[in-house]
Amino acid sequence: MRAVFHYIAGRQTPGSSPGRGEVFEPATGEVQAHVPLGGGPELAAAVQAALAAQPRWAQTSAQRRTQVLFRFKALLEQQLERLAQLLSSEHGKILADARGDVQRGLEVIDFVCGAPQLLKGEYSQGVGPGIDVWSQRQPLGVVAGITPFNFPAMIPLWMLGPAIAAGNGFILKPSERTPSVAVELAALLEEAGAPTGLLNVVHGDRAMVEAILAEPAIKAVSFVGSSAVAEHVYAAAAATGKRVQAMGGAKNHGLVMPDADLEQAVEGIVGAAFGSAGERCMALPVIVAIGADTAVALRQRLKAAMAGLRVGVPTDPDADYGPLVTAAHRQRVEHYIEMGVAEGAELVVDGRGLSVPGHAGGFFLGPTLFDHVQAGMRSYQEEIFGPVLQMLRVQTLEEAIALVSAHPYGNGVALFTRSGDAARRFVEQVEVGMVGINVPIPVPVAHHGFGGWKRSAFGDLNLYGTDSMRFFTRTRIVTQRWSGAAGSGSAFVMPTSKVD
Ligand code: NAD
Repeated sequence: MRAVFHYIAGRQTPGSSPGRGEVFEPATGEVQAHVPLGGGPELAAAVQAALAAQPRWAQTSAQRRTQVLFRFKALLEQQLERLAQLLSSEHGKILADARGDVQRGLEVIDFVCGAPQLLKGEYSQGVGPGIDVWSQRQPLGVVAGITPFNFPAMIPLWMLGPAIAAGNGFILKPSERTPSVAVELAALLEEAGAPTGLLNVVHGDRAMVEAILAEPAIKAVSFVGSSAVAEHVYAAAAATGKRVQAMGGAKNHGLVMPDADLEQAVEGIVGAAFGSAGERCMALPVIVAIGADTAVALRQRLKAAMAGLRVGVPTDPDADYGPLVTAAHRQRVEHYIEMGVAEGAELVVDGRGLSVPGHAGGFFLGPTLFDHVQAGMRSYQEEIFGPVLQMLRVQTLEEAIALVSAHPYGNGVALFTRSGDAARRFVEQVEVGMVGINVPIPVPVAHHGFGGWKRSAFGDLNLYGTDSMRFFTRTRIVTQRWSGAAGSGSAFVMPTSKVD
């Protein structure tokens, strides 16, 4: 049986904590590896290694740090196929999608190769007689990232790229369900020239997360996962004085106007709802049909498109999506399907009971569609995170905007329309962080930033983009006057810029 190890101070190690977790191959249902579930001792070793490596890294010029990141990016490109295969075997997403997982992470490494520009301070000359003010961005020290199972390469890269570019040491705690790629990333960064111990990977579950939150040497925590855990991480990290950004769950809505290009909308919706088996925080699990005719036409087209979907093993080039990550997660999703039925929603397409020939043990679930879902239903209010699409019917765009805005999550949303006026009103009013207009999955590109609103994100600054450089640095502002500049004697009142 394959064993996954921690990566601490440049070495793979099983650690001393006794716990072990199982890593499945979702396509077969079999356990393919064991992962150590570490805690205090492994974290202490990782922190020590990062504390030893970080000061010299911080003193290395941003241009030189960037040279390492350029090489890291080249190595990721070289190894993309291997990394994609590894993560797809643990997660279950199809290979083409797994390549996208690595690629979208790599794009943030590309972005932070601009670190010398991104970390530049500001300068104001002559704010007083002979006085200049300038600012600099300093790394925080050792920081940590805690990541979910569903993007084993992309989300770690979104965090560690900006943190390391900014001069920090990094402790990565990946999901125990998809742990292997994180170790590969650490080894590749070191191969690219990063000092040993700068990036460490510690495996574990809740106990390791609690150890990270309690560790005073860790100055910031970047978290992505479900909202209940995000909220806890946010509160616990802030209580110990750490900087924290904690991204949570989602329930993204796709609104379809009567004037929408229905063919384009349905193509987009089906890909966004069922791609990666719906296990994406930017998936589109809710459709809001605006107008009765839109609902009828949408339902008919969705049913037809769903009938043509192929669920298969990740290596099947014709598969549209693969299995869910674990049997327990599939059971959870099935529980929500039962709940939807019990709550009175109409189950139009039932994906339960699907089996893929030759893979009877795989965690597959067919595409599922509900119609006549009501806002008060629990199955609508909560995140399902599986291949289940729920349709609600409203009469006007205003009603649809109010529905979306009242939902507890506010990660992503999409409007399908041909009307610029409607799109503009929607963008202005909707209470959601990332908005698509005829774009079903509006994940911003690397030089913008990623973050939801409401229960989808706790904290202020987004992942990647310029926000990430702010998150992983602190600003020092220097006000300076050199001798020789005109003095005005001792001042006993607060200096101001008031014009007399
Ligand atoms: P999860 O919350 O179960 O786990 C996330 C991380 O927290 C893992 O590293 C896990 O080991 C740890 N963890 C789990 N339970 C914990 C607990 N009780 N205390 C402390 N730590 C704990 O999430 P997941 O199932 O791995 O990932 C799916 C979730 O992540 C979904 O809710 C999805 O919407 C969300 N997600 C959000 C974004 C975003 O950017 N907003 C992106 C991807 C995924």
